[in-house]
Amino acid sequence: MAGASIASRTARPDRFRGWAGQIAEGLFAVLFPSDCRICGAHLVNISRLPLCRVCLDAMHPISGGLCTVCGERLFSPYAFAEPGGESRCGMCQRMEPAFARAAAYGSYEGGLRELIHLLKYNGVRPAADVLGRMLAEAITSLEPRFPASSVAVIPVPLYRGKRRQRGFNQADLIARAAIKVRGIESGRLHLCDRVLERKRETASQIGLTSHQRRENLRGAFHVVQPEAVRGLEVLVVDDVYTTGATVSECARVLRRAGATKVWVATVARTLKLSAQQVEIQGDPDNGEKLVDALSAPLARAAGG
Ligand SMILES: [Zn+2]
Ligand SMILES: [Zn+2]
Repeated sequence: MAGASIASRTARPDRFRGWAGQIAEGLFAVLFPSDCRICGAHLVNISRLPLCRVCLDAMHPISGGLCTVCGERLFSPYAFAEPGGESRCGMCQRMEPAFARAAAYGSYEGGLRELIHLLKYNGVRPAADVLGRMLAEAITSLEPRFPASSVAVIPVPLYRGKRRQRGFNQADLIARAAIKVRGIESGRLHLCDRVLERKRETASQIGLTSHQRRENLRGAFHVVQPEAVRGLEVLVVDDVYTTGATVSECARVLRRAGATKVWVATVARTLKLSAQQVEIQGDPDNGEKLVDALSAPLARAAGG
């Protein structure tokens, strides 16, 4: 499982193995006792990330039928199947998104949500390395469609006041970690962290219709260096895809600035929880409403 491989790569370095290492670890655990920040289990291994193996292993990649454009969960993929192997959700059938395709590693819930919060709200920076590996997997799933030429990687920017307050932009840290993981073989991915700017703080997206969300974000982003994206394909990266309104607005302004195509990769994505809930809502066309209801508290936490 990809989840397991990500966890195993976060294990302590080899130099701590062996009896001397075990003693050192034991001593460390006694001197600096720490608990897993998700489940509370006592940690005995030295790690910069206060999470246990069980919790890391539980952060699985998304599986099952998904919309091939935006990555939303589909409960009857064949009902929407189009020629060319595409399966679109209701939203993507009604309106062509500004981005070509969006991929996410995992569902925005449980441990993965906690891990993202550890980085964003608790400033646990080593979390960015694990999240970066997950983002790298999402990028890999898009890669067969990338052009042979270079792709500009653009982290969704924070408003500068918020960035100052937090001390970092989590999307930027995660993007850097992902590019590092992918190493030399992905020389065509280059980070452009000063191309896009968020001009103002955006109001909460909670309770807004998709039209209102677009209006809410209009004018929030500005391409500072259009020459950096003109004629290029662009990969927008963020920690979470909630309603897609934020990355869609980024894609719109980047295309207007001359980007030929915009891809989106995020660590996590909010998904419809179950087919049963869709049935309870009745009309599958209410999918949009269902997503809003479910993602409202998450959107508050994620800021979009
Ligand atoms: Zn745990
Ligand atoms: Zn879709």
